[in-house]
Amino acid sequence: MYPPVRRDLPLDDWSEEKKEAVLEKAIAALSRVHKLDIAVKRIVSPKDFSVNLNLYRGAVYGLSPQVAPWNHFPHRAPIQGLYQTGQTTYPGYSVGRAATSGILAAETLMTE
Ligand SMILES: Cc1cc2nc3c(=O)[nH]c(=O)nc-3n(C[C@H](O)[C@H](O)[C@H](O)COP(=O)(O)OP(=O)(O)OC[C@H]3O[C@@H](n4cnc5c(N)ncnc54)[C@H](O)[C@@H]3O)c2cc1C
Repeated sequence: MYPPVRRDLPLDDWSEEKKEAVLEKAIAALSRVHKLDIAVKRIVSPKDFSVNLNLYRGAVYGLSPQVAPWNHFPHRAPIQGLYQTGQTTYPGYSVGRAATSGILAAETLMTE
């Protein structure tokens, strides 16, 4: 489950108790529409994403999924000779699209 959480919550506020509280609410909401039988649970917070995956401010997809494609970071950076790839560049997050961005960055480099 990816329950919505406050984006302005400071990373250090993501204590174990806070994670449990979010989980409880999410389970309560899901229980209203599905019969749940939970055998194992693992809770990962934006703080965990930041510490363990080095994701900027714990943003799971780098940028908001609502960001328009033309607002992704460009493959050609403003610094000459620097090229960028990955989920914050076009065409965005997911394994397939992040891989595609590598191809596009390489093509950008080769057209120099
Ligand atoms: C919990 C979770 C579930 C997901 N589920 C799916 C899914 O089901 N399907 C899907 O398609 N996508 C999924 N995604 C999204 C997908 O994993 C990402 O969009 C994709 O991996 C981004 O690729 P990337 O190359 O931009 O970054 P990453 O895969 O994060 O690679 C960046 C690499 O850079 C390294 N790094 C970071 N900082 C430094 C540094 N300072 N120095 C050196 N190395 C550094 C990191 O350790 C990492 O290995 C999921 C993501 C998460 C977190």
